[in-house]
Amino acid sequence: MFDIYGVENLIATSSDHYPVPASLDNSSRQNQAPPVQQGFRFEAMWLRADDYKDTVEQAWSDVRTLSPIPASATVHCLINEEQGVWEEESVRAFFLGGVADDILQIPINRNGGNDFARWPFTKYRVYSVKSAYNMARTCSFLNERSKSGLGQCSSWPREEKLWKSLWCVKVPNKMKIVLWRVAHDCFPSGDQLRRRQIPTRTDCCFCGRTESVEHALLFCPHARAVWDVLKASFNIRLRRSFISPKQWLFDFLSSCSDQEATTITVSIWHIWEARNAARNEPMPPPPRRTAARAKAYIDLILQHLYKSVLASRRETWYTNRQWSPPPQGTVVAFSDAAVSVEQHKSGIGVVVLNHEGLCVAACSDLLRGALSPEVAEALALRRAVRLACDEGFDNVTFT
Ligand SMILES: [Zn+2]
Repeated sequence: MFDIYGVENLIATSSDHYPVPASLDNSSRQNQAPPVQQGFRFEAMWLRADDYKDTVEQAWSDVRTLSPIPASATVHCLINEEQGVWEEESVRAFFLGGVADDILQIPINRNGGNDFARWPFTKYRVYSVKSAYNMARTCSFLNERSKSGLGQCSSWPREEKLWKSLWCVKVPNKMKIVLWRVAHDCFPSGDQLRRRQIPTRTDCCFCGRTESVEHALLFCPHARAVWDVLKASFNIRLRRSFISPKQWLFDFLSSCSDQEATTITVSIWHIWEARNAARNEPMPPPPRRTAARAKAYIDLILQHLYKSVLASRRETWYTNRQWSPPPQGTVVAFSDAAVSVEQHKSGIGVVVLNHEGLCVAACSDLLRGALSPEVAEALALRRAVRLACDEGFDNVTFT
C-alpha cells in the first residue's frame, strides 16, 4: 500500500520511551534539518535494552589500540597500585597519543575509594554551570584568536600553565597586573585606547610614533635605551620575533628562569611608569634614570628572594640611629656598601628620601672583587653624588 516508507528507532534524551517515527515519503526526511550534535551522553535507560551489554562490549572492542588488549584485562593493568600512579609506559603501549594523554590526566586516588565523576575546571572539582560557561567562553575566545592568526597556543593545558606562571613571577602584584594586561591585549597604550573609542593622544610621548603596546614597552628609543642597560646588567636576552604582545610574553615565560621573569617584569613596569611620568611632567625622565630605578628594584628582589644576602656588611654610624626626614625643599641621600670576601664581589646602593620620607631616587651597582670596606663606602658615596646630579637635586644631604 505504501511503496516508500521509513521507520526510525530514536533515542530520547528527555524520556524513557523510545520514539519510533514512521514516514511515508523519504523526501520529507531528507528536507529536515540535520540533527543537533550533542556529543556523547550516557543514558540510564540504555541499561534496560536487551542488547545493551553486547553493544557496549562491541563499542569498546572497536576502540583502536596499538596492541591487542586481552578480553579479561581491566583498568588495574594500567595502574601502579603501590605508587598510586598510571603506568605511563603501558598506557602509551596500548593507546594512541591523544587517548593516552586523556587517560594519564585522570587523577588516581592514592587512598583507594570508589570512582567518581570529577570536573577539572572548579576548585573542588564539582561541576557548576558557571565554570562550564567560563570554559566555553575561554575556548571560544582562544579559537577565535587562533583563527585570526594571533598565535594562540593550541593546547589548553600549556596555556593554563603559562597563565599560572605569569601569576607566580616574584614581583609585587601591581607589576603582575601590567603583565596580565599585556597578555590580555588590554594594555592602555594610546593605540589600544583609540581602538576602544577612548579619546586620548595616540602618539608616543618620547618619539611621536604611534604608541602601540610593543612600541611602548620594546621598540621605542626610550625603551630600547633602558633595555640596553638592563640587558648588560642582568645578562638577559629579549626575543626578537614579535607576533602579538601575548605571544611574545608567553614565549619568554615558557623558556626563562624565575630570575629572568622577575627581571623582565620589573623592567616592563618601570618602562611603563616612565612613560606615564613623561605624559604628566614637563621633562620626560631620561632612560638612564629609568634603568637605574629598575635595576635597583631588581637587585633588591634578587638579593632577598634568590640569593643569600651579601656576607659581610659595612655597618655605619647611622645604622641604629633614629632617623627623621630632612626639611622641606631638601633631600637626603643614604649610601651604603657591602663586601663579600667568599663571593669576591662588593655591592653599593643609594637611596634618596624627600622631606616626607618618600623614596625619590635609588640605584645600586655590583662591583667585582672584595674591596676594602672603606673603599667600597667611598665608591657608594661617589655614586650618591652622581645620582643626585643626574636627578637634578640641588639641596642634598649625604650620609
Ligand atoms: Zn616612542
